[in-house]
Amino acid sequence: MSSSTTALADKVAQTIASVVRPVDDAFVPLHEPEFSGRERDYVLDAIDSTFVSSVGAYVDRFEEELADFCGVKRAVVTVNGTAALHICLLLVGVGRKDEVIIPSLTFVATANAVAYTGAVPHFADSEEATLGMDPDKLAAHLDRIAEQRGGSCYNRETGRRIAGIVPMHTYGHPVRLTELMELSKKWSIPMVEDAAESLGSYHRGKHTGGFGMLGALSFNGNKVMTTGGGGAILTNDSALADCAKHITTTAKLPHRWRYDHDQIAYNYRMPNLNAALGVAQLEQLPESLARKRKLAERYAEAFAGVEGLRFVAEPAGCTSNYWLNTLLLESSDEAQLEAILDAANANHIMSRPAWSPMHQLPMYADSPKMNLAVADGLARRLINIPSSPQLLH
Ligand SMILES: *Cc1c(COP(=O)(O)O)cnc(C)c1O
Repeated sequence: MSSSTTALADKVAQTIASVVRPVDDAFVPLHEPEFSGRERDYVLDAIDSTFVSSVGAYVDRFEEELADFCGVKRAVVTVNGTAALHICLLLVGVGRKDEVIIPSLTFVATANAVAYTGAVPHFADSEEATLGMDPDKLAAHLDRIAEQRGGSCYNRETGRRIAGIVPMHTYGHPVRLTELMELSKKWSIPMVEDAAESLGSYHRGKHTGGFGMLGALSFNGNKVMTTGGGGAILTNDSALADCAKHITTTAKLPHRWRYDHDQIAYNYRMPNLNAALGVAQLEQLPESLARKRKLAERYAEAFAGVEGLRFVAEPAGCTSNYWLNTLLLESSDEAQLEAILDAANANHIMSRPAWSPMHQLPMYADSPKMNLAVADGLARRLINIPSSPQLLH
């Protein structure tokens, strides 16, 4: 390994350590949940009420307070973010043999949710400025391959309908939603936002997840707030929200004792126990986001003088939740990336590269795609570093 490779790796590990100050041999995780509010009270209250499962007051309360926080009409909570995304896709009409445009650089859940509907992901490239879907490149790609017929959009190369477009706000940084919404409208392709990573992120003052017809959130243990496992569907369309509620609760028709169901549906609702945790976490969220923001500022200052990489800042006009703080290396030299991950982890600082792009995974290798040069490059240059709010000293 060259001495400059080792030097940068050591410098990165030292710089992270100067911000997060690891104590002795304790490992600094990437993102840890924090339960410093009324979590215990609410969870115990749910247990005492015996309403721990499919119905209960905390579910209703969490849905209302979440919709308020996100500035949308309705929120419907689910067992996890992947399930939320699955339902969003079904509700905009995605089905068997359709195609759905998603970024190749995303967590596998985005692609899997598409596959659950029987549709095929169609991979779009990302851009360096937002780490998300590049609207300019997508516009040129659609001009090349798409055509409109009978109010829908079709891929002329595969003959399949393009039934959805799903931008994802990578590590909490909002994509260029204005341009993507224009594309969605121009080509009659409904937009669903994968906002799993962007609770607390805003695009021109408006919360992410509320721009598409529907948006999906995740409350997995490593996200900005957690319900243990959980997710939510956001929408400004009350009729769609009612459908979401129905289809996530086995399509049971309301009746005091009868079990009647009017379609094949899903058991995707969030249990009351998890919602109790969610209500408490949401109370803590603004304060937690403020601390995460401060931590990101510290990292930005600390890395300002380090050559060979930059700290990823929120895109212009946006407020990011800085879910995972991220470094972007100048070089896509694999040895450099490995050396930095080695040095950081050897210093008990958890850090990890971006996901392998979806088109490189065996199950999605044959999916349609555009040129993915930027996504491929980014995947070799991105490093996530510790981001828990409690790391702020
Ligand atoms: C976390 C996440 C999801 C959903 O994850 P669940 O673990 O199912 O809650 C979906 N998409 C992205 C991009 C994510 O990061």
